[in-house]
Amino acid sequence: MTGRDVIENLTISENEEKNISLLDAEDNIVSLLSPEEAGVQEEVAAPSGPLVAALTRAQAKKEAAGAEGVPSLEKMLPGVTIQSSENWQNEVILKQEKNPEISKIRLILGEKRKRKKNYKMMDGIVYRKERTGKFLIYIPSSLRVKVLENCHDSILGGHYALDKTLDLVKTVYWWPSMRNFVSHFVESCVKCQTFKPNLKKLGLLQPISSQRPFQKMACDFVELTRSSRGNCNCFVLVDLYSGFVYAVPTRQLRTVDAIKALSSLLPYVAVPEILMCDEGPEFTSKEFQDYVQKIGIKKLNVVPPAAHFSNGKAEAAIKKINNIMRNYLEDGRADWDEELPILLNTIISVKAPSSSLKKKKGTENIEEIRKSIREDVDRKKERKQAAQKRQYDKNRAHQEFEVGDKALVYFELKTQLGLPAKLQRKFRAGVVVEKDTPNTYKLRLHGQGVEGKVRRAHTALMKRFVDRRQPE
Ligand SMILES: [Zn+2]
Repeated sequence: MTGRDVIENLTISENEEKNISLLDAEDNIVSLLSPEEAGVQEEVAAPSGPLVAALTRAQAKKEAAGAEGVPSLEKMLPGVTIQSSENWQNEVILKQEKNPEISKIRLILGEKRKRKKNYKMMDGIVYRKERTGKFLIYIPSSLRVKVLENCHDSILGGHYALDKTLDLVKTVYWWPSMRNFVSHFVESCVKCQTFKPNLKKLGLLQPISSQRPFQKMACDFVELTRSSRGNCNCFVLVDLYSGFVYAVPTRQLRTVDAIKALSSLLPYVAVPEILMCDEGPEFTSKEFQDYVQKIGIKKLNVVPPAAHFSNGKAEAAIKKINNIMRNYLEDGRADWDEELPILLNTIISVKAPSSSLKKKKGTENIEEIRKSIREDVDRKKERKQAAQKRQYDKNRAHQEFEVGDKALVYFELKTQLGLPAKLQRKFRAGVVVEKDTPNTYKLRLHGQGVEGKVRRAHTALMKRFVDRRQPE
């Protein structure tokens, strides 16, 4: 650990600058020397405005060692102003005295004036000798949170990750099992948890399997340019078994448009058991749900945002429609809705399961051929789905939440306006109130602007919230 690492990269606001300047004038800490130049002592005036302070390795060593190998207190308090260091010194002495373990050491070193290996007392404070020979202040349990508030939470602490925070603490302080304590403190920091987008790839693929045609279908709207007839969108219905696509031009994206489009397709499709759709208001409306129920669909499966990958066939079909339409519209044609049936036909490619056909050549029994084709298709589908799942699950870990679990949910940035993307909270905290599908949950959210709201989220966009334990 070097002091350079500690202070490096810290951009200091003008308020902070005042304190740093004091350090600068006294100890020449603020310097922008490179390690090669470290030997050179140079007075560097603190520039006005935000500045980056850096401490060279050689300087850090010198600072840390001090005349008697004990660092002076002013330099031991990252984030604590010099003015308050006297209070801090008194607080450390007081809390050290109250700590049974440290008070024993104080007694030996102080009143008894004896030696104790690895410990030293200076100005009433007990220090512990590190392997490097450096002496660090022995922090009693009652002050550890305060130290970390300074070394992690404060502006100077900068919410660094475990290693950097630990390095910063270790420039000055010591206590037993320090790494564990710092690790938990950093892990349970609410700011770090909600701002840092370190979302692991979580949630294994739950393949949507459809056993027969029309069992499961997915619907969505594709937005296009306005046709001469006034249609701006396309309602798309995909059969997840066959990948067969149906599309109907619509004027708008309302529930009434979705209902009209869906009912116009009813003569051509069997009513599916399950209809999948996204969270668009046109599909989540009571009206649409009532309609779906009325025509005999057993379940309307609303897929949360970013979970579309679990609905590959519908995604692929929409992508294809988009591609074909884009090419078509580029020619300046306003009659895409008239040509839709022909355009759709180019999407649908029915591949015959040739292998089984060949095998059964000459067989008279048509039922047998049908059966064998069906089996062949099913086997191929299974293999393909298994391969997709393997690919998707690579680098992913399964994570499951129970009702009552605290979790963080990633939010798409459009939900938080007014702040630059980088400054926005990436996660919101919430409590799992319901397990929806194997990979989706309903959460009651906490925090400004979302308090009490219930939202659905895919496990891939969630991570476990780490509660801070009360220090003993
Ligand atoms: Zn933090």
